[in-house]
Amino acid sequence: MAGTGASGRDKWETATRLKAALGGENGAAAAGELRALLERVLAPAAGSGGGEAAGEALEWCRCLLSGGEPWDGFVQAVRAYDPATLCGLVWTANFVAYRCRTCGISPCMSLCAECFHQGEHAGHDYNMFRSQAGGACDCGDSNVMREAGFCKRHRIKSNSNVPCVPKDLLMMSELVLPQFIFSLIQHLREGYNEPALDLPSEKDLHKILQVLEPHVSFLEDLTKMGGAMRSVLTQVLTSQQFYKDLSSGVGENACAKKSHEKYLIALKGSGLAFPEDKLACGMEEQGAGTSTLAVQGLAGATATSGQGDSSDEEDQDGSQGVGKRKRVKLSSTTKDQSIMDVLKHKCFLEELLFWTIKYEFPQKMVTFLLNMLPDQDYKVAFTKTFVQHYAFIMKTLKKSHESDTMSNRIVHISVQLFSNEELARQVTEECQLLDIMVTVLLYMMESCLIKSELQDEENSLHVVVNCGEALLKNNTYWPLVSDFINILSHQSVAKKFLEDHGLLVTWMNFVSFFQGMNLNKRELNEHVEFESQTYYAAFAAELEACAQPMWGLLSHCKVRETQEYTRNVVRYCLEALQDWFDAINFVDEPAPNQVTFHLPLHRYFAMFLSKAVKCQELDLDTILPDQEMLMKLMIHPLQIQASLSEIHSNMWVRNGLQIKGQAMTYVQSHFCNSMIDPDIYLLQVCASRLDPDYFISSVFERFKVVDLLTMASQHQNTVLDSEHERSMLEGALTFLVLLLSLRLHLGMTDDEILRAEMVAQLCMNDRTHSSLLDLISLEKNPNPKSGIIPGSLSFESVLSAVADFKAPVFEPGGSMQQGMYTPKAEVWDKEFDPVMVILRTVYRRDVQSAMDRYTAFLKQSGKFPGNPWPPYKKRTPLHPSYKGLVKLLHCKTLHIVLFTLLYKILMDHQNLSEHVLCMVLYLIELGLENSPERESDEEVVRCGQERCHDSWFPGSNLVSNMRHFINYVRVRVPETAPEVKKEPPASTSSDGLASSQNSGTAQVFSLVAERRKKFQEIINRNTSEANQVVRPKASMKWSAPGATPQLTTAILEVKESMLSLLIKLHHKLSGKQNSYYPPWLDDVDVLIHPEIPRYSHGDGMTAVERILLKAAVQSRLNKRIIEEICRKVTPPVPPKKISSAEKKTLDKEERRQKARERQQKLLAEFASRQKSFMETAMDVESPDADTAMEIATSEQHVSEAIYDCVICGQSGPSTEDRPTGLVVLLQASSVLGQCRNSTEPKKLPTTEEEQIYPWDTCAALHDVRLTTLQRYFKDSSCLQAVSIGWEGGVYVQTCGHTLHIDCHKSYMESLRNDQVLQGFSVDKGEFTCPLCRQFANSVLPCYPGNNVERSLWQSHSNKCMRDLVQEVEDLQEQLGTFPSETNLSKEMESVMKDIKSTTQKKYTDYSKSPGSPDNDFLFMYSVARTNLELELVHRGGNLCSGGASTAGKRSCLNQLFHVLAMHMRLYSIDSAYNPWRKLTQTMQDKNSELISEELPEVPVLYRDVSSLLLIQILTMPQPLHKEHFTCIVKVLFTLLYTQALAALSVKCSAEDRMAWKESGALKKNTCNGEKSWEVLLGHVVSELSKGKIYEERETEELTFLTLVTAYSEFSNYFLPLITSLLQHHLFGGDLPSCQEDEEFTVLASCLGLLPSFQSSDEFTSASCLDWPVPAFDMISQWCSELASFADRHPDQVKALLIQEPKWDLPRLLQLPENYNTIFQYYHRKTCTVCTKVPKDPAVCLVCGTFVCLKGLCCKQQSYCECVLHSQNCGAGTGIFLLINASVIIIIRGHRFCLWGSVYLDAHGEEDRDLRRGKPLYICKERYKVLEQQWVSHTFDHINKRWGPHYNGL
Ligand SMILES: [Zn+2]
Ligand SMILES: [Zn+2]
Ligand SMILES: [Zn+2]
Ligand SMILES: [Zn+2]
Ligand SMILES: [Zn+2]
Ligand SMILES: [Zn+2]
Ligand SMILES: [Zn+2]
Ligand SMILES: [Zn+2]
Repeated sequence: MAGTGASGRDKWETATRLKAALGGENGAAAAGELRALLERVLAPAAGSGGGEAAGEALEWCRCLLSGGEPWDGFVQAVRAYDPATLCGLVWTANFVAYRCRTCGISPCMSLCAECFHQGEHAGHDYNMFRSQAGGACDCGDSNVMREAGFCKRHRIKSNSNVPCVPKDLLMMSELVLPQFIFSLIQHLREGYNEPALDLPSEKDLHKILQVLEPHVSFLEDLTKMGGAMRSVLTQVLTSQQFYKDLSSGVGENACAKKSHEKYLIALKGSGLAFPEDKLACGMEEQGAGTSTLAVQGLAGATATSGQGDSSDEEDQDGSQGVGKRKRVKLSSTTKDQSIMDVLKHKCFLEELLFWTIKYEFPQKMVTFLLNMLPDQDYKVAFTKTFVQHYAFIMKTLKKSHESDTMSNRIVHISVQLFSNEELARQVTEECQLLDIMVTVLLYMMESCLIKSELQDEENSLHVVVNCGEALLKNNTYWPLVSDFINILSHQSVAKKFLEDHGLLVTWMNFVSFFQGMNLNKRELNEHVEFESQTYYAAFAAELEACAQPMWGLLSHCKVRETQEYTRNVVRYCLEALQDWFDAINFVDEPAPNQVTFHLPLHRYFAMFLSKAVKCQELDLDTILPDQEMLMKLMIHPLQIQASLSEIHSNMWVRNGLQIKGQAMTYVQSHFCNSMIDPDIYLLQVCASRLDPDYFISSVFERFKVVDLLTMASQHQNTVLDSEHERSMLEGALTFLVLLLSLRLHLGMTDDEILRAEMVAQLCMNDRTHSSLLDLISLEKNPNPKSGIIPGSLSFESVLSAVADFKAPVFEPGGSMQQGMYTPKAEVWDKEFDPVMVILRTVYRRDVQSAMDRYTAFLKQSGKFPGNPWPPYKKRTPLHPSYKGLVKLLHCKTLHIVLFTLLYKILMDHQNLSEHVLCMVLYLIELGLENSPERESDEEVVRCGQERCHDSWFPGSNLVSNMRHFINYVRVRVPETAPEVKKEPPASTSSDGLASSQNSGTAQVFSLVAERRKKFQEIINRNTSEANQVVRPKASMKWSAPGATPQLTTAILEVKESMLSLLIKLHHKLSGKQNSYYPPWLDDVDVLIHPEIPRYSHGDGMTAVERILLKAAVQSRLNKRIIEEICRKVTPPVPPKKISSAEKKTLDKEERRQKARERQQKLLAEFASRQKSFMETAMDVESPDADTAMEIATSEQHVSEAIYDCVICGQSGPSTEDRPTGLVVLLQASSVLGQCRNSTEPKKLPTTEEEQIYPWDTCAALHDVRLTTLQRYFKDSSCLQAVSIGWEGGVYVQTCGHTLHIDCHKSYMESLRNDQVLQGFSVDKGEFTCPLCRQFANSVLPCYPGNNVERSLWQSHSNKCMRDLVQEVEDLQEQLGTFPSETNLSKEMESVMKDIKSTTQKKYTDYSKSPGSPDNDFLFMYSVARTNLELELVHRGGNLCSGGASTAGKRSCLNQLFHVLAMHMRLYSIDSAYNPWRKLTQTMQDKNSELISEELPEVPVLYRDVSSLLLIQILTMPQPLHKEHFTCIVKVLFTLLYTQALAALSVKCSAEDRMAWKESGALKKNTCNGEKSWEVLLGHVVSELSKGKIYEERETEELTFLTLVTAYSEFSNYFLPLITSLLQHHLFGGDLPSCQEDEEFTVLASCLGLLPSFQSSDEFTSASCLDWPVPAFDMISQWCSELASFADRHPDQVKALLIQEPKWDLPRLLQLPENYNTIFQYYHRKTCTVCTKVPKDPAVCLVCGTFVCLKGLCCKQQSYCECVLHSQNCGAGTGIFLLINASVIIIIRGHRFCLWGSVYLDAHGEEDRDLRRGKPLYICKERYKVLEQQWVSHTFDHINKRWGPHYNGL
């Protein structure tokens, strides 16, 4: 210890001395001494000794830094000089931070909670988020956020106020810190051992990091001392001199030398070298490189083998030998290899970062480095250092075993550096940031390239990324790509990129690595054995690495001035595409059965074209390539469209489900903008420039339906099975419709697009706000500086224009709907666009759903009753640049196809569906809408070229072709076809029209031949223009059309035009002859205003009519021909001459179709039936259950109750032998115990000051009372003086269904054997009601035939009170005989056991002697009490106003009473102690009690009257006679009344008491003294005055007025309520209904307390008194008990006398309006048990207890805290709010369920797990529902998804 172990005092002294000396003359000597001292204490050898030595070193440093001053004082002093205006708080993962888009300049801006709440962001677009990678607070940084959003602390520019730092304050720091930091570096050097094998010795790394932790923490603490200290640190870290002096290893210090060597080794081991070293080997490489390479023509770049020594290491861990490596090296000298492997450190900061990377970003170190960022000089230096190490970071990341953690740490740093535009621009200019990033990305991807197998498997020269590699699978590239996207969001940086041709070339090269990745090959024979999941990686890579940067770049190409950028991108993109086509040896046809969804180069090209036309006013033709290139460009996107259709047609089933996944992802909302939309747009561009005939025929060829497009009745399809023809044809036509009608990039404004997208999504389904936001991701804008989606209109305003909000509602079953948006009626009427819906649907059923909703709208609004067709919507006008697209609609090829299809549909050929017709009509209509010019009727221009289809149609205009009659068509058919036998018809036709039309015979038409001819033409044109290109011999595959030998040519008589076909179709659709009648014949106006309202919605006939009208409007000739056709009585549809064989296949197909439809319908029906069953079954309020109940209750009124068994279905009475039972659910409940005596419900605490104490709850007060009584009185008597069950009482409820108990037993047996998971535990007796599926756990036997007596005793009897009192006493004296052993009695015993075991033992054992029978007695009548009290609560606390509540309907109290009574009778009360006597007789021998040693009995005035009532009733033999019941009630009322008077008397002042006493005495002898409250009160006062009761004065005295009110309130209430309820259940009869103020009177008369109803003004409660013995004697006797008690315990007398009169209804804690209030307080609150901040905090909504959900920290005997609390707080029921998720969970016994949230955002939506982080507000209705379910104990019934929690919550 002696060496370094100077004592604390020595250190301080040394430090003080040195500081003084340094300032003085001997400064140099002192400096030397200091250096030596530091070298000694900081030496690595000393440090590695473990924590002790490190502590010692740090202790020294503290002393030295402060110069011997106390450390805390020094810290304070330095803090005073903090000029920093930035917050800069650094946080790590899972920290809760905020982001305000209104205030943010950078999208990455984030604020700490404190800064956010201190700033002003009300009304801003902000959200809370849980940090993933960690971050830092940007408050105060005006580069990242607007100053308006700064918080108060960071708004003031305090620079000027901070005085200069005195020189000597930090003098020591300046001297000590260089050596300290150097020692840290030395430790790092020492600790690192280059791993021998590939595996880094992680253990070693962790060890050294652990040792260094105190050092780094020390540095972190220094940074927190503010700007002054940070600035010293910056100096030290960035000084080149310090670094040179200390670490270069040139000195004589051997230790330092060794350390420097280790550093060099580590550097070399990382594939890095000093630039000087590099120079030498670089030369060699250059020489070697050029000689061996195969140049792979990339403009502006030369390829080199690049296998320099330095990269060897990299290649070893990449996969070897796959494909051919292509490494690109840019010719420019600045962008070279040196980026990858040259590194020289010049200051501490640089080497420190190097080691930070080497050690894979230890958290501590990262935090320290980030904490320094508020220092501006440091920030710049650090950013440059980071950029310098960028390549090294990538290499380390790729090798890392924990790449996820490391990625997060990298981004944690880089986001702080690159979000700042100014800084990003600076490093771009000074440090080649862009070159470095692009090069690094390129190098990274190069390590996982494989040869592309697209098109030419053997000879392809293209390489693509291998999506199966870890780099892609694990998304390891993410941090680098996200940095790149981040810097491209800065305009100044993006401009640099777009101007730099070299960078663009490199970038396109990078993108081409993804072109054609993840190739799919269609499996034709076997099902794939293994479904590759690589497609996730592929889609993610294209989106993140290609599309996101693209959108970033595009966001800067929005104005005319940026035309040049677009030209650059398009140029290099086309070059890259050309290279790609060459590399894959592409000619003109795609390889069959292959598809890749990844064409990023195509998409770059397309999106830049679109921007050029839309925003930059560029002439499209100046940037488009030649025709040949366009033809090539269209092939692959088209192939994707055809493949989509194939996949939907189940042609790819053998490839497994994943291929469907790809098809869905391709159109899914997050990808569509970057994938399908650019593809469709590119196809539209190609179509607008290419020959339309060529394009159309290509489409049908790609969709493999060319053979189908013949007019012959039979055909052969060589490429497609006939089962797929139908859906492929639909696919092809649908694609054409999409292509021709979409205007997303062809002229729609951003606002129109947003609106169309929104309408499409809303039409599919009602949507929540967040799902809508999620579904409509317009150009995932990586630069959301505005916070608003592009376009002038915001999302919100468009939404309110197209949709209505449906507020969150509850469905009857209790499930909760969120706030939804639904389309407005006008939207359905005018804007519903099926085309957009088709484009945006992942599942076909979504299209159907939209159509169903549309149908429903039309029906509801009365617009169209039938089954409508998709409405035709007029398209937005085409942008002039794309006018050429219309040519597709006016080309002969398309017309031939349309004509053929119309004909085939009319002739009922197979495989043609209504869908096909719909699309055909759609295309015709589009053609008519977009006819090139008003056709002149004379125009019959024939182009002279000899083409086979010239004989079909004369021109290319659809308007004129429509009326063109085709008489005969040559078809190629199999020899067996019916057409063959036909003779070429003679001119038998009497049809005059035909002669005037083309009488030639249309030639055999072959689409394939057409396309090839066109292709050849285009190629020839090109080749003559440009130099000839060598065409490979692929053309040999071209065979003559129709060469299949079995085919023969036949001539088919047709004699139709499109118009005539349409009219016949109308007849066919309507099922009537001549159903079409031209509307203009009646009303010529329609030709001028053809927009007939009834045409806007309708079915197929409407569509035909609309088309015919449009055709007539456009041409007079058409009009005439239509009229002519109609005028002719057309013969019925040509007779079908179908061979029987053909008929069979047709029938078969039809049958199959019909069977499919039937099956669909059945399934749908089944599903809906099941749904509706579930709804009714699960719904507790469902009418079904209600009727069942009503029947059950109503039947109880007839002489003998008849019960239906819901298991066997038989009905009958319940008998002793075969008892019936009610299905019941027993549950322990503490709801009553939660009542409080205050009308204000408690609030959930949200600050430390607010606390909730359980002292004033009903449960607590009852507990105190019982304990007090037990202290002074005999135990057994105490246990009869109160009720328990306020906590852990047993509540019994039923669904009202009954079953035979033996049936139930076999039912339980069957459940036990059923292995299906049921969500409840049969072993615990749990089951669901066989009828209504309500949860239950026991069966309550029904007492047989007791209804007979009831009617006998319905009326009041005339016996006198005295006799009745005697009768009651006699009946009670009769010993309860054990009932004979019957099935019924056994069941009653068993249910009693169930009831008892429902609650915990601690809730049943209150006796001083455990296990005493008194416990059971108390428990049984308390069960009755609990159920009565709960029913009262359910009725809202009174009987009258809530009388109609459903709560009473399903009560099983009557049956429960029988069970309880049977058991109570077994406990005979010793007649001497029976309270009945004390209530009805005056006793003589009261003195005998006093003598005994025992504790006395509880005085009658202390006894709880309700409990007495239950005891009396339940100990009577059953069934009870009503007259006895009334008698008991009357007697107890006298007691209650006296208790009230006694309580009143102790409350008032002594003077008042005197007054009462006197006035009472005066009136005592008046006639009605026994019924006058004044007289009685006077008597009570005088009697009680005999004891010491009034002696102790209370300060709290009531004034006279409040006294009277208090009195009237309390004497009235409770007993009559409970009693009436009891009477209702025992004897039937309706509960009276009345006003609240009359309640007492009404109840009293109903109970028989009042002879008849009196109006309330003349009424006093005293008039209900009916004394069995003289009142004054009775009262005197009761009072004397108190007096004698008062003699012994004067202090307790009063407290026991005053009982709480009335409890408020149980309530849950009130929650604050804003969720944030809860979140801020609780998410960082520590648990009082474990004193830690829980990972999953939760709070009990009943009592406010804070618990650690799932936390092991607070686990007790295998119970986690939440479960434990649910048992203690709610006797098994717990309601917890999960703080971090905003949702509520319910625990019920061994099960739990997620209830949902009571906090909703502004759009009525939940935000589970706070993912969106938007402000949440309380939904009062939901909370009320929750409270209601809690109070009514219906959690089990209403919530459906319960699961076991295994005590782990
Ligand atoms: Zn902050
Ligand atoms: Zn702040
Ligand atoms: Zn703001
Ligand atoms: Zn049965
Ligand atoms: Zn039921
Ligand atoms: Zn609680
Ligand atoms: Zn805890
Ligand atoms: Zn805990």
